[in-house]
Amino acid sequence: MPHALFLDELISTLGAEVAQRGDDVPERYHTDWSGTPPQRPLALVRPRSTDEVSALMRLCTAHRVPVVPQGGLTGLAGAAVPVAGAVAVSMERMNAIEDVNARTALMTVQAGATLQAVQEAAVAAGMVFGVDLGARGSCQIGGNVATNAGGNGVLQHGMMREQVLGLEVVLADGTVLPMLRPMLKNNTGYDLKQFFIGSEGTLGIVTRVLLRLRPAPQARATALVAVPDFDAALSVLARMQSRFGNGVAAFELMWDSFIQASIRWQKLQPPFGQAHALLALIDVDGKDEATLRADVEEALGEAMEAGEVADAVIAQSVAQARQLWKLREAPAELNTNMHPPVNFDVSLPQADIGRFADACRAAFDARWPGHHSLFFGHVGDGNLHVSVDGATANGDCEGVEAALYHLVGEFGGSVSAEHGIGLHKKPYLGASRTPAELAVMRAIKQALDPLHLFNPGKVFDL
Ligand code: FAD
Repeated sequence: MPHALFLDELISTLGAEVAQRGDDVPERYHTDWSGTPPQRPLALVRPRSTDEVSALMRLCTAHRVPVVPQGGLTGLAGAAVPVAGAVAVSMERMNAIEDVNARTALMTVQAGATLQAVQEAAVAAGMVFGVDLGARGSCQIGGNVATNAGGNGVLQHGMMREQVLGLEVVLADGTVLPMLRPMLKNNTGYDLKQFFIGSEGTLGIVTRVLLRLRPAPQARATALVAVPDFDAALSVLARMQSRFGNGVAAFELMWDSFIQASIRWQKLQPPFGQAHALLALIDVDGKDEATLRADVEEALGEAMEAGEVADAVIAQSVAQARQLWKLREAPAELNTNMHPPVNFDVSLPQADIGRFADACRAAFDARWPGHHSLFFGHVGDGNLHVSVDGATANGDCEGVEAALYHLVGEFGGSVSAEHGIGLHKKPYLGASRTPAELAVMRAIKQALDPLHLFNPGKVFDL
């Protein structure tokens, strides 16, 4: 039992309430949302403070025991799945909203606070938080930082990186890096916090986060717009941005197969009397509800006259807006309805997304006639999601991945727009990063985690 001494010391240092042996770890900590086969960790640690995280890491360094940081386990790349012989570190108990200041537009939270708790605290202070995504009720701010999460608000506010003003991070040897300075400008050498944003738990454990808040929009209009083809969708986006500027808060595009699946899986009413090739879900922020709605209606009317829009509905209430957004929430149903879903999160030059979707469908159909695939995404920022039902591709999930990533390479795109690399996209990282870039990544890893204790085997091999 090579780990027996370590486990005894772990439990005597942190206490049985914080540290559990592997045999006692509930199954929900064995895997994440990605469908990666479960793995029991050596132990589970659920720290209550930065000091406890630091004590854990000192012990892990002394015993050369690796750790896998875990947030809300909603990740779609398998990055938080335990590794054999490693300690899983769940941040769920460090979930305090420590400070919200509407005057400075800043919030300090512990890493285990859920995204939804952060959003609600911001709204209670008359502000908003700039990141939103479907897993908001479960995913944690620490996980959002570690994956540099994107989601629905990127068009207006940027990704998670743009919302983070400061971080507190625990390094492999237990050192605490207190980088929580409430200043936008700070050109004093390397911006160290940026290394940890998007590092997928491979460089340190994020324990606290200083977040930027945004002014709450006074009014929001939501429209669901049927467009005849992809180029028309881009014309509508350009039209809306030229009229409403940064007020265009979301531009989500859904292809017909996604729309039909969403209606079926969620038992929704079809939004229009007839099916359309593409639907765009558009949020626009402004000052006054009635004026904004009228302006959006006018803009869409002009788009209709120009042949860019076939049909449109503008929500007349918050409840109706939520109902329209429900159509976009089908991804939460993927695991139940696809066997298994083969999920993609690619980014592409925006103008090429329509052609890319057509090329994927054609490539899949040539190999697996009658296959079932869904196309949808945050197209306003160049991000396309694709889900293929593995069962309809004869279970050849690897073949589906190889075919799609081959096309990503041909179109000059990225294999991960926002979900990260984790385990699932590791074989394809080289398609989006040059050998020189990978060498720098490895050098950073070596400098910050010389014993390779953090999340071994994730993102890249050393
Ligand atoms: P986990 O899954 O627990 O972990 C993810 C990674 O972060 C792992 O590498 C883990 O080691 C690391 N990590 C977690 N906490 C810490 C910490 N405190 N310190 C260091 N490392 C840590 N993602 C998007 O970007 N955009 C979307 O629109 C989106 N929509 C989604 C919709 C659904 C229905 C689901 C299920 C997922 C979606 N995701 C989306 C993916 C997922 O929600 C995000 O990647 C999220 O940021 C993960 O947060 P988490 O707390 O669940 O992290």
